[in-house]
Amino acid sequence: MSNSIMAEERVHFPVSEAAPPLFIGMNFGGTHLKIGVLDQEGRTVSYFATPHHAELGPEESTRHAARAVLEAIDKTGADLKSIVSAGFSFPGSLNPRTEQLHRPPNIPDWQGYPIAEKLTEYTGLSSVLFCNNANAAAYGEYWIGAAKGTHSVCLLLLDRGIGCGIIVEGREIKGANGFGGEFGHMIVDPSPGARWCNCLQQGHLEAYSSATAVARRTRELIEVGLRSSIKIHHGTSLDAIPRMVYEEAEKGDELATQIVLDTARFLGLGIVTLLHTIDPECVLIGGEMMFGGKGSKIGEMFLTRIREEIDKRALKDLAENLKLDFAQLGSFASYIGAAGLARDESWLFSGADE
Ligand SMILES: [Zn+2]
Repeated sequence: MSNSIMAEERVHFPVSEAAPPLFIGMNFGGTHLKIGVLDQEGRTVSYFATPHHAELGPEESTRHAARAVLEAIDKTGADLKSIVSAGFSFPGSLNPRTEQLHRPPNIPDWQGYPIAEKLTEYTGLSSVLFCNNANAAAYGEYWIGAAKGTHSVCLLLLDRGIGCGIIVEGREIKGANGFGGEFGHMIVDPSPGARWCNCLQQGHLEAYSSATAVARRTRELIEVGLRSSIKIHHGTSLDAIPRMVYEEAEKGDELATQIVLDTARFLGLGIVTLLHTIDPECVLIGGEMMFGGKGSKIGEMFLTRIREEIDKRALKDLAENLKLDFAQLGSFASYIGAAGLARDESWLFSGADE
């Protein structure tokens, strides 16, 4: 959980030993911009985070982001020309036809803002790539994280919603309208009484396995009087509940354990369809809600239950060869991946071999 981003330190690889050229990666996250300068091998030579001030509106906030990027370059001691390419990742997608932000979650007043054009203008960088946060995070894992060396990866981010980034042979799946990989809106319950998703449709995975869904389900079960050591009060925020579920499950609470297992079952259902559509070598679970993640008792139980559902329902070859794991790079994945995607794009246009 990254509640104190400013305090998070990245170990900087010495710029004198970095493999040139250098790439910028910037991630516009929930509250902060994370900016890194990376070398050819994906090593971070400088990094810092600063509030993105989205509340000031797109124009002011974009000018702030551009200044922050230039400051990051300056701090590295590199001049602007040594930065071959920059990758910027944002919530939501760019409309591929207009290059404007399209329905960005949490920042609705940015709808239609020509972010690509403005950031290019304000930074003065010549080669700039834009991508969404989930695809950037997936590329980060593919480049130097838990999916390193694989053919393809689907990264599922369990946060307030469910984000998904898909990378196949080094390319992100963007889709014709910029909505490639909207895995959270996969239908896992077609019944008339299915739960309502944030997108105002019924039965979508996000309504069952996102952090918000876990919080809602938990609250309902406690309110009907089921016994549990989870202590929810009137003022308990939805954001706090998934962590409480994890902690009580870790202590052996039956209801909390069942909630984790049900969350896994629905995720498994969704992943089965993902396997039959993409045939990825690797599926990673990341985001804020990992129930303790790798090595923890509940995290491993969560992963095992997802795996069981896949083994039961997917084509045998797909299930057997799937690498299912937790993501490794946490909230740093997007800035790393944004730089990586920019690097790949620059190779593509230069016609050089990797
Ligand atoms: Zn939905």
